[in-house]
Amino acid sequence: MGKVIAVANQKGGVGKTTTSINLAAALGLLEASVLLVDADAQANATSGIGSEPNDEKNLYRVLTQEVPVGACITPSNSVNLDLLSSHIDLSAADLELADLDRRQYVLKEAIEPIRDHYDYIILDCAPSLGLMTTNALVCADTVLIPIQCEYFALEGVGKLLNTVRSIQKHFNPSLEIEGMLLTMYDSRVNLSKQVFDEVKKHFKKLVFKTLIHRNVSLSEAPSYGKSVLSYSINSKGAKNYIDLATEVLKKTT
Ligand code: ADP
Ligand code: MG
Repeated sequence: MGKVIAVANQKGGVGKTTTSINLAAALGLLEASVLLVDADAQANATSGIGSEPNDEKNLYRVLTQEVPVGACITPSNSVNLDLLSSHIDLSAADLELADLDRRQYVLKEAIEPIRDHYDYIILDCAPSLGLMTTNALVCADTVLIPIQCEYFALEGVGKLLNTVRSIQKHFNPSLEIEGMLLTMYDSRVNLSKQVFDEVKKHFKKLVFKTLIHRNVSLSEAPSYGKSVLSYSINSKGAKNYIDLATEVLKKTT
């Protein structure tokens, strides 16, 4: 059975898209078969992995049942990694789906036919707790929460965890937390260590051992439409995401 991991945090700029792309690519490199689903209308994961938003074949068309999911999945330039791309039309989905009876289950039902074609399906969520993110959490087996090593790092994490509990109660009792991932860690900055200690104190074993360091290759790679593994395999960023993928693989087996 394929494992669906939602990468979520309603705070913007914390590393959701960077993590979705590079965790997906790293799992692929470690020989898992992976689908990256771009569930954010900004389509940063789509362009970041070198694809163009396509008017006909995208997640919005799948959710509105205009096009079957299988027809919208494309191979990426990364090994063992397919993509279900986003489109700006997805920005209307929260409103357009709002009146449906089973509005929280639209994504889950849409990807059902291909769920078992992959070992991992990674969902890159938008920076909101709106209906699309609810759909991602209802569909997911686990949620991975990136936390940026910055002031106010934990701001909003409590609210996100309340949302997770509410989803567990009402829609998806088996939803688990994959882990809290500290991102943009800078060992030269005292604050990074303080944030790490604080997150560890609160969330203990839920925190990934792997830290994602601040690394320039990670910020440059998407403008070349590549994962960091294709862009600069010897970078610290590449090593960090391979370590993360190894940790995720160990949890699953
Ligand atoms: P989100 O999807 O949560 O909004 P992004 O993944 O788009 O966040 O990251 C926000 C910005 O920070 C992007 O410009 C990205 O390239 C950069 N970034 C993310 N992680 C790192 C990192 N570890 N080192 C350096 N830059 C990073
Ligand atoms: Mg993003």
